[in-house]
Amino acid sequence: MTTVERSHFAFDNTYVRELGGLYEAWRANEVADPRLLAFNDELADELGLDPSFLRSPDGVAVLVGNVVPEGAEPIAQAYSGHQFGGFSPRLGDGRALLLGEVIDVHGRRRDIHLKGSGRTPFARGGDGKAAIGPMLREFIMGEAMHALGVPTTRALAVVATGESIARESLLPGAVLTRVASSHLRVGTFQYAATTHDRELLKRLADYAIARHYPEVTGANNPHIAFYERVVDTQATLIARWMNIGFIHGVMNTDNMTISGETIDYGPCAFMDAFNPETVFSSIDHQGRYAYGNQPMIGQWNLARLAEAIVYLFDDDTDAAVKMATDVLVSFNERFNGYWLTGMRAKLGFRDAHEGDVEIVNDLLALLHAERVDFTSFFRALSRSLRGDSSRLDALFPNRLGLLAWMPRWRARVSGDAGTVAAQMDSVNPVYVPRNHLVEEALAAATQGDLSALSTLLDVLADPFTERFEGDERMARYAEPAPVEYTEGYATFCGT
Ligand code: AMP
Ligand code: MG
Repeated sequence: MTTVERSHFAFDNTYVRELGGLYEAWRANEVADPRLLAFNDELADELGLDPSFLRSPDGVAVLVGNVVPEGAEPIAQAYSGHQFGGFSPRLGDGRALLLGEVIDVHGRRRDIHLKGSGRTPFARGGDGKAAIGPMLREFIMGEAMHALGVPTTRALAVVATGESIARESLLPGAVLTRVASSHLRVGTFQYAATTHDRELLKRLADYAIARHYPEVTGANNPHIAFYERVVDTQATLIARWMNIGFIHGVMNTDNMTISGETIDYGPCAFMDAFNPETVFSSIDHQGRYAYGNQPMIGQWNLARLAEAIVYLFDDDTDAAVKMATDVLVSFNERFNGYWLTGMRAKLGFRDAHEGDVEIVNDLLALLHAERVDFTSFFRALSRSLRGDSSRLDALFPNRLGLLAWMPRWRARVSGDAGTVAAQMDSVNPVYVPRNHLVEEALAAATQGDLSALSTLLDVLADPFTERFEGDERMARYAEPAPVEYTEGYATFCGT
C-alpha cells in the first residue's frame, strides 16, 4: 500500500484517538485490477468529496483499499455479538476496515469504511473477501432505505477487485465503501464489557454520548439517559421498518447500531404479501428474525446492551438493574406509539382516536388472510379515495372482508379526499426494492451488465412518486414478484 500526497478526505479520527483497546491497526489487501461498478455522486457531494477524483484511477485505488489516503488510519474494529442468540465474545471486522472519519457538508461526522478488503486479525476462518452481488445489494438497499426516509448507512462505491472468490461457486470479488454516522454497535459495548476494564467501558459510553447523544451530557445520570436514548432510537427505527414491510434478516447484536441507523444489509428483504412470519434468510431456520419478531428481537438486543453497561448506571447493583429494567420495559410502549403513528399516517388519519389500533390490526389480519401485497395496498387505498377502486378490488380475491373494513376506515378519514390521498402517498411508497428486481439486477451485474442496476437505482431514488403509468417495460417495478418466486425465495448471508 502506498500513500497519496494530497488527501481528498479531511480525516479527523476520533475513534482511533480515543478508543485504544477497541481496534487493531491494519491494512487492506492490495488487488490487481480494480474497476468501479457503482458510485454515489450525491453522497460524495454530501461528504464534501470530489466525485471526479474518486471516479479516476487514483480515486478507485483509494476506494478499493490499494492506497491509504493521507490522514486515514485504517483499523479493524473489535466487537462481540449475539448471533442467533448465541454469544461470540470476539467477532470484530473480519473483512472490513474503518479508514477514518470526515465531517460532511452539514457538519455531521461520518465513518468511511471498507468492506471486503481482506482478512484482518478478526477474520477467524473467513477469507476476508466479499462478492460483487452482496456488495451491490448493500448499495441498493441502503439507497432505497435512504430515499424512503429510514435512517441507514449508505454506500459510496462498489469496486470490483478482479479477483475470483470461492463461495458455493467462484464469484467475482468486490469492495464496498460504506458511510455511517458511526460503526458503534451493541456488540462494541459487549466487547468492552468482556475485557472487564470498567474505565474502557466508561470511555466508550462517554464517546458514544459525545458523538450521538450530546444532549444527555448534562443529565443527572448521563449513562442511563444515554441508554434511554438508544432504546428510543431503536424503537423508532424498528417501527419504521415495520411500517414499510422491511425485514432486516440478521438482527444480531453486532448488527445493531448505537446511532439508530440500519446497518449490514445481508439477507434483508421487503415483504410482498403481508405475513408476520415472513423470513427470507437461508440461515434463519427458526424464523428468529421474521418480520413480526423484529420488535421483540430489538428489545432482546437492548437487554444485552443493558447487561454490558449496567455498572455505569449506579454503584449499587440492585438500583442499577432496576433503572435499566424500567427503561428496557418502556421499549414496548415507545415502539407501539411510533408504529401506530406511522400506521395512522399510512391510512390518512390526521389525529389519534381510541379505536385506531383495532382498525389497523383488523386490516393487517385481512391483508394476511387474503395474501395482499403490503406495499401495493396503501397506494390502491389512496387511489380509491380519488374515486378509482379498481386496483383495490383487484388485490382482494374475496371482497367480503374488505367490504366490512372499508366503512370503518372511511369514517375515520376526514377532510378533502385529494389532500388526504396526497398525504397518504407521501408516506406509502410505490417502489420498494422487490426481491426479484434486486436479484435480477445483481445477476446481470455479476455477468458484467450494469444496466438493470442503474435502472433500479433510478426507480428507487424517488419511491413515493408514481411514474411510468402505461409504460409496459417499467410498470413491473411497482409490482410484487409472482407468488411462485416469493415462496422459493431465500437470501444468503455473510458472503
Ligand atoms: P455479518 O454476518 O456480515 O454481520 O458478519 C458477522 C461476522 O463475521 C463479522 O465479524 C464479520 O466481520 C465476519 N465475517 C463475515 N464474512 C467474513 C469473511 N468472508 N471473512 C472474514 N470475516 C467475515
Ligand atoms: Mg455484521
